[in-house]
Amino acid sequence: MLIVQKYGGTSVGTLERIEAVAQRVAKTKEAGNDVVVVVSAMSGETNKLIEYAEYFSKTPKQREMDMLLSSGERVTSALLAIALNEMGYPAIAMSGRQAGIETDLAHTKARIENIDRTQIESKLQEGNIVVVAGFQGITREGDVSTLGRGGSDLSAVAIAGALEADLCEIYTDVDGVYTTDPRIEPKAKKLDKISYDEMLELASLGAKVLQTRSVEMAKKLNVNLVTRSSFNDNEGTLITKEENIMEQPVVSGVALDRNQARVTLRGVTDKPGIAAEIFRKLADNNINVDMIIQNVGHDGTTNLGFTVPQNELEIAKKAMSEIKASESVEYDSDIVKVSIVGVGMKSHSGVACKAFDTLAHEGINLEMISTSEIKISMVIAAKYGELAVRALHSAYGLHQ
Ligand code: ADP
Ligand code: ASP
Ligand code: MG
Repeated sequence: MLIVQKYGGTSVGTLERIEAVAQRVAKTKEAGNDVVVVVSAMSGETNKLIEYAEYFSKTPKQREMDMLLSSGERVTSALLAIALNEMGYPAIAMSGRQAGIETDLAHTKARIENIDRTQIESKLQEGNIVVVAGFQGITREGDVSTLGRGGSDLSAVAIAGALEADLCEIYTDVDGVYTTDPRIEPKAKKLDKISYDEMLELASLGAKVLQTRSVEMAKKLNVNLVTRSSFNDNEGTLITKEENIMEQPVVSGVALDRNQARVTLRGVTDKPGIAAEIFRKLADNNINVDMIIQNVGHDGTTNLGFTVPQNELEIAKKAMSEIKASESVEYDSDIVKVSIVGVGMKSHSGVACKAFDTLAHEGINLEMISTSEIKISMVIAAKYGELAVRALHSAYGLHQ
């Protein structure tokens, strides 16, 4: 079999952990498999590098950020290859460029456009374990790019897809995908299987156990994806097609997204084209706008609120200062988004009502709401985030 294994930050967080990973990789190789390993930076490393940059600038050039951030993964890939070689297993470390990962020009959240598999394949054929630095690629202009936070997951899935690997294993610090973050709700249950669509929602709503784009790509390329722990041998969670899952609960999981900020424009002229101008400005700056609320107009003006990722707030502020679309602008990063997800919601009514009731019962005010067929999201004050997760988890009986 050809197996792609990805090890996250905690799994390679110390030299001892890298040694343990080397042993697991060697075992997989010994079992007769070809192995491509994708590694993250040591845990905390990427955040540390971001802080270094912030010492100099609040809005550093994204290109330079990618030069900086991609370095963390190169360290761990080289160290793991060195460890494997020392154990007698021929291994070769590769940067994203060497691994043939070609991306668009969107620095710090680049999209993979193509993978040239020749380099990895030829190294595998020579009998090597190939260790790829995750989270990075190369733009058509020849610059290093990174794939967004948590992007090593995407590197692994994309490589698994390109090589038509039999299995892609994402090794992390929990046993798999749970009904909610087990660090917030210890009663959370591990799921044996979850559909691509539910996982996609959970991921995009803040369950960082898998990066959103990696799930998108796994679904598109039909990658056999498993998340499991690098700290034990427990069976993980299989992410698979909906039809492979027999029983669908109404709600499968609860997610909390802390990386949220709200922008409120007051006194926006109420005429066609204004919203388009505002959101075009944000799009031109590559800002991902999420929830949007526009109030009913009054006296020719209206109020417009939307959320953006907290780490894009500074860019959003700058963008808003460059247009004159409203009388005033307010920013609030003291908010979080809590969401419930489940494909079973499609065929059930009263799901939203129960969520609103549950939060009301805890005295939590709903500041924004958005729904889709399989999710309900609510923006609330940051201090209530974890309480809301636990209350909703229990209200939908997820601990049973
Ligand atoms: P890695 O460094 O291995 O990529 P991450 O920190 O990115 O790991 O993701 C794993 C973390 O995701 C867990 O430690 C857990 O706290 C968090 N998490 C959030 N939601 C969930 C969930 N529904 N199931 C499992 N883990 C979750
Ligand atoms: N090191 C990067 C991050 O912290 C990528 C990853 O871990 O997947 O976001
Ligand atoms: Mg991660």
